[in-house]
Amino acid sequence: MLEDKTPQRTDIASLGEFGLIQHLTEHFNIHHSSTVKAVGDDCAVLDAKGLKTLITTDLLVEGVHFNLSYMPLKHLGYKAVMVNLSDVYAMNAEASQITVSIALSNRFPLEAVEELYSGILLACDKYNIDLVGGDTTSSTKGLLISVTAIGHADEKKITYRNTAKENDLLVVTGDLGAAYLGFQVLEREKQVFEVDPNNQPDLDAYTYLIERQLKPEARKDIVKILNDLEVVPTSMIDISDGLSSEIIHICTQSKVGCNLYEDKIPLDPQVISVCEEFDLNSTTVALSGGEDYELLFTIAQSDFDKIKGNPHLTVIGHMTDANNGMNLITRGTNQAVPLTAQGWNALLDKNEEN
Ligand code: ADP
Ligand code: MG
Repeated sequence: MLEDKTPQRTDIASLGEFGLIQHLTEHFNIHHSSTVKAVGDDCAVLDAKGLKTLITTDLLVEGVHFNLSYMPLKHLGYKAVMVNLSDVYAMNAEASQITVSIALSNRFPLEAVEELYSGILLACDKYNIDLVGGDTTSSTKGLLISVTAIGHADEKKITYRNTAKENDLLVVTGDLGAAYLGFQVLEREKQVFEVDPNNQPDLDAYTYLIERQLKPEARKDIVKILNDLEVVPTSMIDISDGLSSEIIHICTQSKVGCNLYEDKIPLDPQVISVCEEFDLNSTTVALSGGEDYELLFTIAQSDFDKIKGNPHLTVIGHMTDANNGMNLITRGTNQAVPLTAQGWNALLDKNEEN
């Protein structure tokens, strides 16, 4: 379906390792004065100038975290950067550098790696990130990509998961559940394609969902918005596994409970209509879907007036005493249902049973 049918295949061995690294990294620009030395020596050298340094890393493995039959390599490169930047923004910090390490089997020609790096380059230019290093090696089977992101922040602004307080408001950015549904749509089209390769999928009704799955955006803008509004969240996390499990992380680590209101969960209209088509409950999808890369945070009630009316931010609940537990307050019936930490894998398994 979306498989890259690149006609030209240049053997990577023809460039040699140094030639390859040089070729892949030559178009990357340096955006930050904190980058003293980027690619080309034994180490990168950074100077954070009094700010604290934040580091996060993620390893993505073909067949486990991504499937190249519907994930174009350019999108994979972009997404691999996004998932790491999202972790930096989730600390209320500015992301400034990345390193990228790849392991390639001989199935990948130079053109494929160029595609991957074009996505990485796009992400770096759009998010103002310097590529400062990495490693390149071979694998016996498949593709591995590991990105490490480095960020900086004033110590007073760094926001952890374990510092939410009772009575704080629980706030989420953007809308939820779309990335999971995008994955479901792509899986379905892949199966249709396997049966009939001439079948051209009509994906117009799913554009937002597919984009959220294939080209997620990390919420750099939120760090700036919060800074401009002079709001420092009391706790923050990014939503990679699903709203429910992220709320549970904040509550457990902060030793508080929470009430999450079902009718407040922000959903895109496309999520609502495709949930009906797939016979899925939209609340379940938002709670357990994952890969939304939105930010979930808590603020003191006294900061409510500052965020009120911001179109990117939705108050979805409040923190309580730990004895209250972590509850979903249902729409209409106002029942308190305990939240469970189902990731999207659990959701998938459930679908397969049906
Ligand atoms: P070493 O042998 O010291 O590990 P390498 O030959 O692996 O050095 O890397 C040379 C330089 O190129 C280093 O600055 C390294 O960080 C960078 N580099 C290597 N692979 C990549 C990659 N895939 N992407 C970006 N930079 C890379
Ligand atoms: Mg190396």
